[in-house]
Amino acid sequence: TGCFDVEAVRRDFPQLHREVNGRPLVWLDNGATTLKPRQVVEAVGEHYASGTSNVHRGAHALAKQATQIYEEGRAEAAKVLGAPDPDEIVFVRGTTEAVNLVAQTWGRANLGVGDEILVSAAEHHSNLVPWQLIAKERRARIVPVPLLPDGQLDQDAYRDLLGFRTKLVALTHASNVLGTVPPVAEMTALAHRYGAKVLVDGAQAVAHFPVDVTALDADFYAFSGHKVFGPTGIGALYGKRELLEAMPPWQGGGNMIDSVSFDETSYAPVPHRLEAGTGHIGGVAGLRAALRYLSGLDRRAATAHEEQLTAYATAALRTVPGLRLIGEAPGKIGVLTFLLAGTDPIALAGALDQQGIAIRAGHHCAQPALAAYGLQAAARASLALYNTVQDVDSLVAALQGIQAEAAAS
Ligand code: PMP
Repeated sequence: TGCFDVEAVRRDFPQLHREVNGRPLVWLDNGATTLKPRQVVEAVGEHYASGTSNVHRGAHALAKQATQIYEEGRAEAAKVLGAPDPDEIVFVRGTTEAVNLVAQTWGRANLGVGDEILVSAAEHHSNLVPWQLIAKERRARIVPVPLLPDGQLDQDAYRDLLGFRTKLVALTHASNVLGTVPPVAEMTALAHRYGAKVLVDGAQAVAHFPVDVTALDADFYAFSGHKVFGPTGIGALYGKRELLEAMPPWQGGGNMIDSVSFDETSYAPVPHRLEAGTGHIGGVAGLRAALRYLSGLDRRAATAHEEQLTAYATAALRTVPGLRLIGEAPGKIGVLTFLLAGTDPIALAGALDQQGIAIRAGHHCAQPALAAYGLQAAARASLALYNTVQDVDSLVAALQGIQAEAAAS
């Protein structure tokens, strides 16, 4: 596939070269988490083996070095999102914590009785439940933006639902169940006409195509390190500076203050004001390495490789008798959700696992999206830039075998 050297990339990912159940691992569970290149493993190892220190405190060489790596990690996160200023990046545990932070601070300060939060029906539970929690507290309303049968959001409905009561639109940049990529820039521009803010969930986007929050004009944008070849437990929230500055603190503690007394406490400037306590320094070391790894690749070629592989996989899966793909809108990322007639999705994933093929089955933390198709569970193969035609062929051959067995019994 083009000039993208997938074999060279695969050599960087040690886990791709292990076996599971006596068979070479075929990792098609990238929607759940991505594998790590050795550059990330080494960066995390180095932090703990010889670079351990807290950051922003302690006048010694290791504190300075750790602080530098930490702040370079922030700059890498800004760069991968196209954010103009690293101080617009708040470190969080992941996408889930990013959304909760915005809901609990911005939401508590800005939502009132009867206000509306538009939540797309494609959202992961992490971009829905935090809004339900704050909506209940503030007596605001959650309004779903419905899906069309092909997995795209219904733009006519969206236009009708937007109004001056809309305060926030919660929108995924790529659905983890349907793979669909909504027109975020257009939807954001429409929301802004009503003065509403837009929070974009980039958990499934950043690893798969170049992101530019400035071009999107997103107010908030969240992603998880572990889905971009980095460690678990670290992620980033981008927020426009004026929004972050106006947000009340979330958690209180060390690092986030300017001065403290029993009479009065004042807070540090953003982003530190929103980062109470010692951060995940080893995680940031790994995230920095992951984002440097990603930006060292030819991103356009990597995206083209994934697009070609997605088209190949879609066509190949269609050849399996009794297989039904869910969500087939053009421009989708490599998320292939499907049902196989006569087999339960969970049992199907178990049978594939016996052959070393890792996929996910279940509700994918997006029950409303599956419910839109009348489903409670489905199987999902999800691709990343290191997957190959051989991976897809292994999956399809295994599915054909499972299908033939199910048909015979
Ligand atoms: N949003 C989407 C679209 C996701 O796929 C996921 C993870 N499956 C999340 C949010 C939540 O990410 P995390 O669990 O890393 O916080």
